Amino acid sequence: MNLTHAALQPPVMPSGIEADWLWDFLQKKQDKRPLLDRALAVVAMPDAEKIALSAWVQAVSALAPQFQPAPIAWPMTCPLADKANWAAFRTLMEAFYEKGFHAGLPYLEDGTPVAKGGVTYAQFVQAFRDRHRLNLNPDAREVCVLCGGLLGDTPHVDHWIIKSAVPLLSTCADNLTLICSTCNEAPNKGDQPVHTSGSFADWYHPYLRPGSGGFQLGYDLHAVAVHCSAFAPADQSKVSNLDRLLKLSSRLTGKFKAEYANQQGVLSRRELRRVNAGYARHTQQELENYVQQWAADLLPTEPDHEVHALLGQAMNEPARVQAWLAELAAVQ
Ligand SMILES: [Zn+2]
Repeated sequence: MNLTHAALQPPVMPSGIEADWLWDFLQKKQDKRPLLDRALAVVAMPDAEKIALSAWVQAVSALAPQFQPAPIAWPMTCPLADKANWAAFRTLMEAFYEKGFHAGLPYLEDGTPVAKGGVTYAQFVQAFRDRHRLNLNPDAREVCVLCGGLLGDTPHVDHWIIKSAVPLLSTCADNLTLICSTCNEAPNKGDQPVHTSGSFADWYHPYLRPGSGGFQLGYDLHAVAVHCSAFAPADQSKVSNLDRLLKLSSRLTGKFKAEYANQQGVLSRRELRRVNAGYARHTQQELENYVQQWAADLLPTEPDHEVHALLGQAMNEPARVQAWLAELAAVQ
């Protein structure tokens, strides 16, 4: 194939809009060389390598069947023996995300080719935020879809299947999620795989097999530890893998302890104010009322709602109320 602007026109590309966009894209530079150089390297590959790469593209593109019964094996090895050729292909694919998507793709949201005004990275981020906003008040805090914590001012666009391993999925909408920076960075998700040696059987996927509603949080009050468990035993391996990927149990335990310490501080200050003013100390009934009121006031749309609701249950246990009364009795 002769890789020129004219050669990309239909029927090679489905439309002139896409051909023009692709040609402009190939003029962009990566590491001081135009992307066209990498495209020419791919064009010049021996036929056997092209066939291998094409088969790999077909296999990794078929992501949805991986989440249906009896999927075919997900390719785990690099399809190209020639490292320079693979690097050229990978650079091209990653540039679709780093350069093409950021500047704007030649498509409307519904996939219609468009010369100007196509979907951009910033639009994707905004649309994702709008779609997942639990509290529609624009001033309300936003929640991370993975951990339920604060989404934060600098959420990350995560490639669920990392783009360095499967660069073809770098701009695939099904592979992109917007999550909090803590979830995305090591030692949490980072570059870890979201499958077991190519099998997705024991894994959730943000779109193709969402885990929401599939598991619950529990606590061990003695050890002060939060754990995640599946509602259905068949889902336990998926919950365990997600928990390990995101360090959910240990992160939620930290939040559980932090809010417990916060409540301890609030009640100790209240107790001290009573003592200093010469009022009666908290009674068991007052303490129970406080805990129940606090738990009832928790907003489901706020970050960390699940772990705070769990703390509300834990604080309401008779043994914990008794222990707390004893702690408050010592405040002076
Ligand atoms: Zn998160």
